[in-house]
This record gives sequence, C-alpha cells and structure tokens, in this order.
Amino acid sequence: MSRQAHNEFLIFKDCLQSLKADNDQTNVWVSQWSGGLYSSRCYYKHHFDSITPAPPPFCWIWKAKSMPRIKFFAWLLLVDRLNTKDLLRRRHKHLEEGYHCVLCHEHVDETAQHLFFECTSSVTRWFALGLQWELQDNVCQMLIQQQLSFVGPYFMDFFMITVWCIWKERNDFIFNHKAPSLQNWKQLFKNEVNLHLFRLPSSKRFLVMNWSVICNFDRLYSEALLVLSCKSFIGKSLV
Ligand SMILES: [Zn+2]
Repeated sequence: MSRQAHNEFLIFKDCLQSLKADNDQTNVWVSQWSGGLYSSRCYYKHHFDSITPAPPPFCWIWKAKSMPRIKFFAWLLLVDRLNTKDLLRRRHKHLEEGYHCVLCHEHVDETAQHLFFECTSSVTRWFALGLQWELQDNVCQMLIQQQLSFVGPYFMDFFMITVWCIWKERNDFIFNHKAPSLQNWKQLFKNEVNLHLFRLPSSKRFLVMNWSVICNFDRLYSEALLVLSCKSFIGKSLV
C-alpha cells in the first residue's frame, strides 16, 4: 500500500470509529442529488445528465432491425473508424497499391465520405434506390436531412444495408478481384433485404416493398416478397 493510500485508510478508519451504530434503525441509501431515496435510475440520471446526447442517427442505429454486425459497421462509419484506405494511412500502414478508391478511376483517396457518398460508383447505387445526397462534412447531418424526405419506415435499415452492400462490393473487388457492377450490387442488395425480412414482424414486412419498387426489382421478386409477408414464410431463400 502506498503512503498516500495508507494515510487515506487511517482517515477513513477514524471516520468509521466516530460513527455510532444504531441497531434500532433500518439502513437505507439516500440520494444526495435528488433529496430522496437512492435508486440506480436516479444515479444514472445524475451521472449522465452532463453528457451531451449523441446525434439522433446513433440512436437510430441501435433501434434498427438490422443484424448486429451491420449495426456495428454503421456505427464505425458514423464515428469514422471504418478501415478505409484513408484510415489505414492515418494509422501509418503502408499500402503498396496506394490509397486511391478502387470503385472509380478518379484517383481520389478512399475516405468514408468519398466511398459511400461521393464516388461515382456509389452515386449510381444510391440513384438506383432513388436517393441523392446533399454532401456535407458531417454524415449525421446528412442522415438527418435525408430521413426527412424518406418515404416509409425503416430509413436507418435502408441506409445501413445500402452502405453495407457498397462495402461488400468494395471488399469483393480488393480481395476476390470481382469487378464491381450495378447489376451485381442490386443482387447483393436484394439478398440482404431478403435476410432482413426475417427480422421484421410479419405484419410489417410488406412495408419494405417500397424498397423493391424504387430499386426496380423485377416483378417476380416483388411477388415473392408479398407471398412472404402474407404467409410468414421462413427458411427459404427467395433468390
Ligand atoms: Zn471512388
């Protein structure tokens, strides 16, 4: 025990010795912050009151229905901790092939902002889904603005699945040499939505039909989704 800790221990011991036990009284915890009885809720409220609340998109992530790995991926994107080439460079990792975005030929550094919102490749993916972004430095601000004009529920799921598919397409190209194409990306998107459906209550599944419409999904797929929503069909792949 350090000298300082020992001194504190002696002070604490003196304090305890000065206390007189009253065996007739029941021990209770008293909250000095609210003037009432102590409760965990009261303590947490006092402790976190001084912390500025996170921007709404962070709350949207955890309330969304997507798979945890996609939620975590989206959180990394929002806090700019996704392993883009730009981040690898900031961590002093040397890449022989350079730090350019691989999805376009513009020789632009692969930042999260570029990869998901500015890259011509990503822009075409968003365009296929009927979305255009007003570019700003702050992704949260962009999301808040986009959410206002989004038709239907599950905006955050829609966003997360889209960026997840862009990321998978990018990784497929880098690690599996699979050339990016809008057609393949749409298929990827459909597969993810397909998996996502099982996480929604059967009564709500038809709501994501809007996604298939704006994505120009083929009629067969739309009908299959409808059947799924009506019969609560589980366990088979649609595509
Ligand atoms: Zn690019």
